[in-house]
Amino acid sequence: MNSSSIKIIFQDVDGCLNPADGEDFGVDSSWQPSQNQIDMLQEISRAVDDSPLEHFVVNTGRFWPILENLAQHLTTPKLRYFIMEHACVIYDRVEKRNLDLVEIARKYQLDSLADRFTHLETLRKLLAWYDETGLPEMERRYDCPMPRLDKIGNLSFAIPKHADGGEVLETIENLVSRDFSPDEFGKLEFLRSDRFIDILPGIDKMDGIELVLAMLDLEKKDAMAMGDYLNDLSVFERFDQVLCPANAHPDIIALTKTKGSSGIASPHSYGPALLDFLEPK
Ligand SMILES: [Mg+2]
Repeated sequence: MNSSSIKIIFQDVDGCLNPADGEDFGVDSSWQPSQNQIDMLQEISRAVDDSPLEHFVVNTGRFWPILENLAQHLTTPKLRYFIMEHACVIYDRVEKRNLDLVEIARKYQLDSLADRFTHLETLRKLLAWYDETGLPEMERRYDCPMPRLDKIGNLSFAIPKHADGGEVLETIENLVSRDFSPDEFGKLEFLRSDRFIDILPGIDKMDGIELVLAMLDLEKKDAMAMGDYLNDLSVFERFDQVLCPANAHPDIIALTKTKGSSGIASPHSYGPALLDFLEPK
């Protein structure tokens, strides 16, 4: 892959935009990046500006309240679109609004994508259900506060410290299947990480890439995606031109190496891997 032929980068945040020492970005809305992190974000922003790239698109599992504080240091005008919450939300920084994903997918005749984005309606219903029914039932059962994160396209809440994650997952699945039709239930994906339960509407980061490429009238050959972790697997499995930093998960590095000259497993970690790619060769 020749960096000068790339017109658009789809950019993961955590694990990919951190400074050289890997300092983690915070995960609550009161968090502000450190000077070390700000310096890296500003350096990346300048490098994007100076590169032949036309668009720099953030593609992250983060949601706006915990992305905004970081995004304000990426001032390049090439960054207009933020694909968030695993492509369940796309924010347009110029128009200051979230895009209507179903409408856009229909406009560009991406029928199966449009169909999948309609699952967001089920997710919205689920969020309202959680606030009214799910939350009080879960709090009664686990005897502690279980607020959901301030997301609009995923239902996420922390696993109580004293509870078993697998059991919490099973409990919420049972409650949802009790109160939703089998058709609605079938549109939802129930996942758990170390700390969180996430319920997603069967949409992933690769869907966001397809939609934005159509919107901007670009092709896959014009694009490169950077990611580092297992939530980037859908991208690394289905997309050819990829870059991963040296700190990436071994599965991501292994997948990158299967792609021949289209895949770059950088010898650099975190933000410096992207800076190295953007540097004129
Ligand atoms: Mg990541």
